[in-house]
Amino acid sequence: MNASQYTLVIIGAGPTGLALGLELKRLGISSLILDRLEAGANTSRAAAIHARTLEVLEPSGATAELLKYGFTVDTFRIRDRNQLLASISFKNLKTKYPFVLTCPQDRTERILFKKLQELGGTVHRPCEVIAIRPEKNGVELEIRTKNELKTIHTQWLIGCDGMHSIIREQADIPYEGGDYQDNFVLADVEMDWPLDLKEASLFFSKEGLLAVVPLPENQFRLIAAVDEDPSKPTLDDLVKLLDERGPAMKGIAIRHLLWSSRFRIHHRIAKTLRRGRILIAGDAAHVHSPAGGQGMNIGIQDAISLASALNEMLKNGSEVPLDVWEKNRQQIARSVVKLTDQMMRVATLESPFAKRVRNTLIRLIGKIPSARFALAKKLSQLY
Ligand SMILES: Cc1cc2nc3c(=O)[nH]c(=O)nc-3n(C[C@H](O)[C@H](O)[C@H](O)COP(=O)(O)OP(=O)(O)OC[C@H]3O[C@@H](n4cnc5c(N)ncnc54)[C@H](O)[C@@H]3O)c2cc1C
Repeated sequence: MNASQYTLVIIGAGPTGLALGLELKRLGISSLILDRLEAGANTSRAAAIHARTLEVLEPSGATAELLKYGFTVDTFRIRDRNQLLASISFKNLKTKYPFVLTCPQDRTERILFKKLQELGGTVHRPCEVIAIRPEKNGVELEIRTKNELKTIHTQWLIGCDGMHSIIREQADIPYEGGDYQDNFVLADVEMDWPLDLKEASLFFSKEGLLAVVPLPENQFRLIAAVDEDPSKPTLDDLVKLLDERGPAMKGIAIRHLLWSSRFRIHHRIAKTLRRGRILIAGDAAHVHSPAGGQGMNIGIQDAISLASALNEMLKNGSEVPLDVWEKNRQQIARSVVKLTDQMMRVATLESPFAKRVRNTLIRLIGKIPSARFALAKKLSQLY
C-alpha cells in the first residue's frame, strides 16, 4: 500500500469485504482492502451457507471449494422435544444447490481469501480506519498501520466493517432498530446424535429453544436462547441444555466441546446504504437474529451484486446502477429482518397457552406442501 490515491477502497475483510474484493477482481477491477486485525478471525460463527450464496459465489470458484469441505443438510425439522411439528425439505428447490451447506465461518473466509490471492489480490493488515472525510470527488481516510498513521484518498469507499462500522457512523447514516432480550449460547461440539444427520433441527421446549445443526467432520453446532448474562458456556452447560430441551432419546452424548460463545442479538437496518461516494454492505448495513442463519449470506450477496453495480458504473460513468443496488438490497435486508424477527418471536414465546397454539399452527402449516416449499425457498434466499 504505497500509493495515496485509489479508485476503490474496501474496509473490512470479513465475508462481505472478501467476497466484494474477490468478485471485483474476477471482473478485472482492483481494489485496496484494509482490515484492522493482524490476521483473519479464527472462530466458527456463521455456519450456514444457503443456495443463493452458493449460486453467486460459483463464478469465482469459491463454491467449488466450499463444496469440497462443507457438509450438506437437506431438511429442516421443527420439533417439540420428541414430537415432530414440521419438516421442511430443501430437496425440491429449483437450484443446482438444493440444500444448506454448513461450514464454519473462518473456513469460508479462508476460502474466499485463497480465491482472492489466486487472482492476485490481497488484504492489508493491520490497517485500521480511524477517520473519514468526504471530498468533492471521493473520500479522504486516516488509517493506522502497525508503524504509522497515513492519509489516503479514494474515489469510492465501501464499508464492510461490521456491525460497529466506523464508516457508517462517520458517514452519519442512522442505524435503526432495537435489541432482543435473550442471550444466545453458541457451541460447536463432537457428539453422538441419534437423529438424521442430514437434518437441522429446531427444538421448542418449556425451557426455551435449541437448534442442532450438523457441521463437517462429525461436528455439531448447538444454539440456544438463555436468560443469564454472557460468559463462556462449558461442556456441562451444554449437556444440561440438550437434556432439558433436546429429544428425550438414548444415544446422545457430547464427547468434546470445540468452541463456545454467548452473544446478544439486535435487529437494525441502516437508513441508506449510500451517502455520496460512500457505500456500506454486510453487517455494517443490517443485523438481525441468527434464526435461519441468514446474516453472512445476505452480506455476501450484497457484495456480489455491489461488485456488478460498481463494474457497470466504472465502465459507463453512470451512478444509476449504484442507486438500483441500494434500493434492491435495502428491500432484501428489510424482508430478512422481518422473517428472522417473526421466527424469533415464534420460537421464544413464553406463555404455555401461546406455545400450544403455536405448535398446533406449525403442525397444520407443516401439512401444506406449498407453505413448506415457500419457507424453504425463503430460507435459501431464492427470491
Ligand atoms: C458469535 C457469532 C455467531 C454468529 N452466528 C451466525 C450464524 O449462525 N449465522 C449467520 O448467518 N450469522 C452469524 N453471525 C453473524 C455473522 O458472523 C456476520 O453476519 C458476518 O460476519 C458479517 O460479515 P461482515 O463481513 O459484514 O462483517 P464482519 O464479519 O464483522 O467483518 C468486519 C471486518 O471489518 C474489520 N473492521 C472493523 N472496523 C474496522 C476499521 N475501523 N478499520 C479496518 N477494519 C475494520 C473487522 O476486523 C472485520 O474483519 C454470528 C456472529 C457472531 C459474532
